[in-house]
Amino acid sequence: ETITIQELANRMAERAVDVVRILMKQGHMAKSTDLIDADTAQLIAEELGHTVRRVSESDVEEGLFDSADVEGAQSTRPPVVTIMGHVDHGKTSLLDAIRSANVVSGEAGGITQHIGAYQVTAPTGGKVTFIDTPGHAAFSAMRARGARVTDIVVLVVAADDGVMPQTIEAIQHAKAAKVPMIVAINKIDKPDSKPERVRSELLQYEVQVESMGGEVQDVEVSAKNKTNLDGLLESIALQSEILELKANPDRPAEGTVIEAKLDKGRGSVATVLVQRGTLRTGDIIVAGTEFGRVRLLVSDKGENVAEAGPSTPVEVLGFSGTPEAGDRIAVVESEARAREITSYRAHQKREKAVARATGMRGSLEQMMSAAKTAGRKEFPLVIKGDVQGSVEAIGGALEKLGNDEVGARILYSGVGGITESDVTLAEASNAAIIGFNVRAHKEASSAADRAGIEIRYYNIIYDLVDDVKKAMSGLLTPER
Ligand code: GDP
Repeated sequence: ETITIQELANRMAERAVDVVRILMKQGHMAKSTDLIDADTAQLIAEELGHTVRRVSESDVEEGLFDSADVEGAQSTRPPVVTIMGHVDHGKTSLLDAIRSANVVSGEAGGITQHIGAYQVTAPTGGKVTFIDTPGHAAFSAMRARGARVTDIVVLVVAADDGVMPQTIEAIQHAKAAKVPMIVAINKIDKPDSKPERVRSELLQYEVQVESMGGEVQDVEVSAKNKTNLDGLLESIALQSEILELKANPDRPAEGTVIEAKLDKGRGSVATVLVQRGTLRTGDIIVAGTEFGRVRLLVSDKGENVAEAGPSTPVEVLGFSGTPEAGDRIAVVESEARAREITSYRAHQKREKAVARATGMRGSLEQMMSAAKTAGRKEFPLVIKGDVQGSVEAIGGALEKLGNDEVGARILYSGVGGITESDVTLAEASNAAIIGFNVRAHKEASSAADRAGIEIRYYNIIYDLVDDVKKAMSGLLTPER
């Protein structure tokens, strides 16, 4: 636990020079950007006549995001959908087509705002929320920040082009996140479209659509001609019934920042997806290291609204600073509490940045101990190897290592060097990457450095398996 002199001074509402002076009296030369430890900070604060209360993470974050959300009546909530797929397969066109087909003539002048997400009404009468940034980059960036936003992935595959590299990546990301998929076979208006081929190609990636005997729904659409968009919405509605999506609207709101920007006229504007509870004007909110009081809520139709319930995207005005996409937001009872939480987080964030800069990175073992999931502990891995045979052998050997309590979870294994896309995938799931007789591309290793993702290299399968085994047994030791 350390704090900079400046930060300590800020928290006490004292001047940094006064803190420096006290340190000098004790014989330490310091400047305001220097770090001091918690004990020293306490002594200084007391010397200046302040009462010290040390807060731990559990004090500060307690009560925020109690994910169980068991109390109170649960109501059905709309599904939140992200569209993924290969470039040019029609993700943006599909998002636009669905939105414009749903604009009721005369509604708010038919103006559609791009706020990062929008909601439409399905033919079944239920609502569906679409995240307006297609592709798996945004999806994974959010997941890497711990945000779980998407309930259903719509995988767009162009019927004239078939399964392509980013289609495969999207499948991996959806699977790693354990989010169910619906396949939208797009561009069926094209004379050279071959929807059947798409279905059979998908089999190779373990996506089995219903007509192939599987459980994944598939829908043929044309974004260009707006064909069968209702069919797609119905499939989404059906999938969301299966998922039994519920939330309690009668509690303080929690959600995730989807987009945020500093607007010249309006100040900090954040698009928030409310996930639980109801957000209202006047609420005091925290998101990441920022807080504020909700001054104005603006819907995706550009209308001012008084409140926003579960699965509703809404623009929030009133933040003091600009939060980041992926930050979770919560309503708190007072501004003092909001300050406490955000200054604590700002401090944690700086400490992490310092730790990262000084080269402390999560080791395989630390990552293991962090891999706490309810029940069986899973150790997520991405494996790249030089030939298919060795990749398969490694996968098989690692899967055999598991038992009821702990096991490896192979998010992805493939042949070739370690790419940036492998790193994004690993980052989103907090996984380690293993390279067997392969190296990381330059961009990939710098991306891994930035993200604090560990890449381990091996050329003997036995060594690799042995290391993972050791790391796993670390997970079994009871925590002290
Ligand atoms: P994205 O990169 O996946 O977002 O793809 P876009 O939505 O930008 O679409 C790529 C191209 O495919 C554009 O030129 C679209 O006009 C075209 N396109 C999208 N959907 C359809 C469709 O259903 N039929 C036809 N013929 N073209 C389409």
